[in-house]
Amino acid sequence: MTLRDAGRRVRLFDRYCGPGGRMSARQENDWQCDHGAQYFTARDDAFQAEVARWQHAGAAAAWPARVAVLNEPNQQSQPDEPNAGRQTRRIERFVGTPSMSAPARWLADALPLTTHCTIGKMWRDAHGWRLSSTEHGAIEETFDAVVLALPAPQAAPLLHAPSPELEAIARGTVMRACWALMLRFDERVPLPFDAAFVNDGPLRWIARDSSKPGRTGRETWLLHASAEWSDAHWDTPAARVAADLLDAFAQCGGPPPAAWTAHRWAHANVAPDGDPAPGYVWREADGLGMCGDWLNGGRVEGAWLSGRALGRAMVRALQSA
Ligand SMILES: Cc1cc2nc3c(=O)[nH]c(=O)nc-3n(C[C@H](O)[C@H](O)[C@H](O)COP(=O)(O)OP(=O)(O)OC[C@H]3O[C@@H](n4cnc5c(N)ncnc54)[C@H](O)[C@@H]3O)c2cc1C
Repeated sequence: MTLRDAGRRVRLFDRYCGPGGRMSARQENDWQCDHGAQYFTARDDAFQAEVARWQHAGAAAAWPARVAVLNEPNQQSQPDEPNAGRQTRRIERFVGTPSMSAPARWLADALPLTTHCTIGKMWRDAHGWRLSSTEHGAIEETFDAVVLALPAPQAAPLLHAPSPELEAIARGTVMRACWALMLRFDERVPLPFDAAFVNDGPLRWIARDSSKPGRTGRETWLLHASAEWSDAHWDTPAARVAADLLDAFAQCGGPPPAAWTAHRWAHANVAPDGDPAPGYVWREADGLGMCGDWLNGGRVEGAWLSGRALGRAMVRALQSA
């Protein structure tokens, strides 16, 4: 959007059926569930203004969830208000509406997006950057610049031939897996919270997805396993994973579901490594950039700020070219 607003022609390619990436949801006949990002916060002024635009467009809303912390001595305390008695600012959580992918869909409406288009190769010739996709072969257009807005492990192989330097940056980032389990119930689950951070066992987060604004259909809960557990159980069959996570959910007071669906995220979140994140990468001489959460501390807000900062750097560079 930053490039388009500066008068540049932009094309988007995504390997999935729509935009959203890890901000995505499963939609079925009588249920829906966000199985990637659960909510986002907005601390930066510019991102707060962006979220307000999304809210105005009906693509996002605040989620006033009752959030607990489980398996700690002070069980079910509110993590938003850690110091009872002291004045603390409550964290405001936002979600896409009617599902988590809505903000990306709303943004992409303004740009030409080719879906089901997995970029498998990129190279430069005398006219500029060329791309080729697994589904459609070589893309006819040539480009002044290419941005890889992908998780680091997916960006790395594309960079092997055109930029070993950027490939090395991407390969230097570790991203962790996440097993997600989507549960459907015939009746409301009688737990006294809408979501909980779980600090023990395989689970890290459980949420009543149907408590989010704009959701329709059955009572739905989402379970996320911890990164450590998910990495260790990457090759475990889904039925075994579901049995272990449902057992852990039962220990949180959750009843058995009427049905479940599992999803395995390979590159869910950045592993914290202590190095300051560069925000984005831009090599003006090559017309090549990278952005995304992994370059800016993780999370939805980090990803958005990374893309915006890269867009601005590119506008400056392309204007002076
Ligand atoms: C399980 C889980 C829980 C999370 N929880 C939260 C949370 O609660 N709060 C929060 O703020 N963040 C959360 N996150 C992180 C958040 O989702 C990400 O930080 C953010 O969505 C990253 O956006 P991105 O644009 O950088 O990358 P992505 O969303 O990964 O987008 C990359 C896009 O590139 C496409 N793509 C990949 N390879 C190719 C290719 N070769 N050709 C074409 N297209 C390609 C993908 O289809 C995808 O659409 C969570 C993530 C997961 C998976």
